[in-house]
Amino acid sequence: MVDIRILTIFPGIFDSFLSFGNPARAIKAGLLSVQTVDLRDFTDDRHRSTDDYPFGGGTGMIMTPGPVVRGIRYLKAVMGSPAVILMTPHGRLFNQNLAEELARKDGIAFVCGRYEGFDERIRAFVDDEISVGDYVLSGGETAAMVVIDAVVRLIPGVLGADSHERGESFYNGLLEYPQYTRPRSFEGMEVPAVLLEGHHEKIRIWRKKQALARTLERRPDLLRDRVLDREEQKLLDEIRQEMTNGE
Ligand code: SAM
Repeated sequence: MVDIRILTIFPGIFDSFLSFGNPARAIKAGLLSVQTVDLRDFTDDRHRSTDDYPFGGGTGMIMTPGPVVRGIRYLKAVMGSPAVILMTPHGRLFNQNLAEELARKDGIAFVCGRYEGFDERIRAFVDDEISVGDYVLSGGETAAMVVIDAVVRLIPGVLGADSHERGESFYNGLLEYPQYTRPRSFEGMEVPAVLLEGHHEKIRIWRKKQALARTLERRPDLLRDRVLDREEQKLLDEIRQEMTNGE
């Protein structure tokens, strides 16, 4: 059972996300527990404020350290030793490897920011900082949902087959091969013949070659970091040869 708790000023944002698809199924199957924790419960003033003006001036408000740090201490007390993760555009860029790293944890506490971000001193109380991409969101809640969704898919038992069997993008360091379903012919576009012949080995090699070709075309950076086995190297050589021949 993976125990996830989310410290946020907007707990209600997660209701719908947790009610559908894989997160809902994982919770129902007892493989996952997700609880939101209202950051305002850790405030100590009449207005339950979580933000204040930035020292030195500037636009926007900053999340004050008191409520966030009290919230983190509470989560550590009730969860044991969770990985405490600050959602921030300054964090490690989220990817499939990081999702796999998190899926191995028993407990994860996400800290979601709002306003113009966190007082810098809050960083001293977290284990990691994650960014979901080089853009700025209005709050850490949608970023935490992205991370939770990717992690849930990796919890054993949530999906029918594991992502390795599914040939899913990034599992193998490659983009997934093209997929087709019925009808065989759609507006003049045909399903590749190899997929209709039932020859499993030919289909496996076709898919591997397509995955390599798609990755080479769209995400060559992924191939630079990946050690190819002999079959993959041979297929990649073929792809490059075909590109040179203009096929
Ligand atoms: N002023 C901050 C900056 O320039 O870095 C951005 C603050 S943003 C409006 C408010 C909150 O949204 C952040 O504290 C963080 O929790 C969350 N957030 C925004 N973009 C994010 C991203 N790319 N990844 C993870 N969290 C993000």
